[in-house]
Amino acid sequence: MPVFHKYGYGAAMAEPGSSGAVLSLIRTREATTRNELADRLGIGRSTVVQRLAVLSDANLVIAAGDAQSSGGRPAGMFAFNESAGVVLVGDLGQTGCHLAVCDLGARPLAEHTAPLEIAQGPEIVLDWVKDRFAELLRDVGRGWQDVFGIGIGLPGPVDFETGRPVNPPAMPGWDAADVPQMFADVASCPVLVDNDARIMALGEHRAARRADRHMIFVKIGSGIGAGVIIDGEVLRGERGAAGDIGHFVVEPDSGAICRCGNIGCLDAVAGGWAIAQRMGGHAATPPDVVRLARDGDPEATAQVRNSGRLVGAAVANAVNLLNPTSVVIGGKLAEAHEQVFAAVREAVYSTCTPVASRYLNIVLTELGHMAGVIGAAHMVIDHVLDPDRVAALLNS
Ligand SMILES: [Zn+2]
Repeated sequence: MPVFHKYGYGAAMAEPGSSGAVLSLIRTREATTRNELADRLGIGRSTVVQRLAVLSDANLVIAAGDAQSSGGRPAGMFAFNESAGVVLVGDLGQTGCHLAVCDLGARPLAEHTAPLEIAQGPEIVLDWVKDRFAELLRDVGRGWQDVFGIGIGLPGPVDFETGRPVNPPAMPGWDAADVPQMFADVASCPVLVDNDARIMALGEHRAARRADRHMIFVKIGSGIGAGVIIDGEVLRGERGAAGDIGHFVVEPDSGAICRCGNIGCLDAVAGGWAIAQRMGGHAATPPDVVRLARDGDPEATAQVRNSGRLVGAAVANAVNLLNPTSVVIGGKLAEAHEQVFAAVREAVYSTCTPVASRYLNIVLTELGHMAGVIGAAHMVIDHVLDPDRVAALLNS
């Protein structure tokens, strides 16, 4: 049975000098020699040696050469063994998915991208995902016993504590589905589930914008969502609905009925689905809209530009509320045409207050379509290697 714990950046350190605390310092490269570790943790060198032996036996720590020394005996350095295991991650959207097997440094070792209708429901979708995960493991010469954890992003609100979606408007059949339990037949490792825009926000923050204290990541795709990072931590809210910018009401008089039941939501007027509906036979699905916009089709370009403008107006409100360091724009629709990003940028700068916009960076995603899987990998790795949980890992 997987065990779930609250995930957080600033997880409290385990008892000082525990194996988990030693691993944490080595992993972040804050301390890499026996003396540095002893100093940082305030423990004796012999205890450090003991902890290192346990971590080396578990293959989590390896020798990494000698530190530069100004004289005397060179100090042996230690490094986290990112090849000690793997994590399996999936960024599931409404119409497509991106799966990967990553090492413990969140680096993808093998990937699989495919169209996928999330509306087929959890049984069909997750059985398919498990089969692809098995193939990815085979591709990299690993087995389920090497999997430290599984991380899944879903396009709707998710209760992170339980890994269950909460009334997801665009995911029929998924409400309250016990996603972690559905992996229990193949893996006994922790399974973490979160909203797709949130894992993208985490990926972008950890891999490209670590110095940004506060960040809003906006995903413009079939639907529209956002992930918010506050003081370096993912903001989830009481039930996992934080960041649901897609249901900001932006055109109440439009008559556009949203999948959530309200009228005039951003999602209902600017999402890929809404555009496909408006374009009728010209573009039947969100991927058609992306393809046409990419090819420079005038109608599709005008539609995605209009989406950018509407998203920008909503983002400006979020910027006024949160005063972030940066706003990162991603998602297939945003990547389809440069005018989407230009329109978002223009709308944000022209609408939000000068004090909020003066030092604001609005940028396109650096990680692109990789943001989701890399974020999911960080989510899982940080969870299983949290100092408090390393003891359990060493005993397993
Ligand atoms: Zn809505």
